[in-house]
Amino acid sequence: MLKGKRAVVTGSTSGIGLGIARALAAQGAKVMLNGFGEASVLEGLKKEFPAFSAADISKPEQVRALIREATDKLGGVDILVNNAGIQHTAPIESFPAERWDAIIAINLSSNFHAIQAALPQMRERNWGRIINIASTHGLVASPQKVAYVAAKHGVVGLTKVVALETATTGITCNAICPGWVLTPLVQKQVDARAAQQHISVEQAKVDLLSEKQPSKQFTTPEQIGALAVFLCSDAAINIRGAALPVDGAWTAQ
Ligand code: NAD
Repeated sequence: MLKGKRAVVTGSTSGIGLGIARALAAQGAKVMLNGFGEASVLEGLKKEFPAFSAADISKPEQVRALIREATDKLGGVDILVNNAGIQHTAPIESFPAERWDAIIAINLSSNFHAIQAALPQMRERNWGRIINIASTHGLVASPQKVAYVAAKHGVVGLTKVVALETATTGITCNAICPGWVLTPLVQKQVDARAAQQHISVEQAKVDLLSEKQPSKQFTTPEQIGALAVFLCSDAAINIRGAALPVDGAWTAQ
């Protein structure tokens, strides 16, 4: 379905981004991978995805360079998935200002810089798909996540504006809002909970799900990848400016 399309997925060396990159590639898209990781892991991924960039997307000039490099190596960028993200949890009084800045730069501002860099060529071809990976935390809040919740609400707002500015074109912009997906980002929170409460990691997983996600099941990166593929399809042309929850009824409560 995506033969001939060229995609960039930020933060795709792990978790949801890798799930999306694999799902797009399985449909025939050429995908540029981006992110950090251990050398041995990166080596394997570079075999699977020959186009790779280690751009640090906390830096605006590196985000713009990533889009330029993808355009050179793949011949263009038709699909942009803004996925890279980090987390830090602490009450606001002790939340390090440096973590606030990093989360806003990586989880929010990078989306702005990447979209600004990729949109002109999408407009030239009158075809494009922009998918921003927000979160349930783009729709509702939880304590101890002030920067993350602010950034993800920002992503949902940015998505709506880009959708309005492209509404009469063949370019769509949407946000996916996952609940809990068991990736390294969430595993860290599970491990911290297990250590703090002196419970097993398995119990910490059950507790985490029970607290927020009524389905009591994690979403998988493959399931998020399948939704991204659908958003790239012709059938999804009039889904614009949406913030689509994939959260086991978390935000239905
Ligand atoms: P992850 O930690 O598994 O992956 C994060 C990816 O981002 C990695 O590839 C990492 O190398 C990359 N990255 C981090 N900082 C970067 C930087 N400065 N420059 C370039 N790449 C960088 O996390 P994940 O859970 O797969 O999260 C992916 C996205 O999904 C994030 O935006 C996250 O907020 C969002 N999300 C995750 C969940 C969840 O439950 N896991 C839920 C909702 C939203």
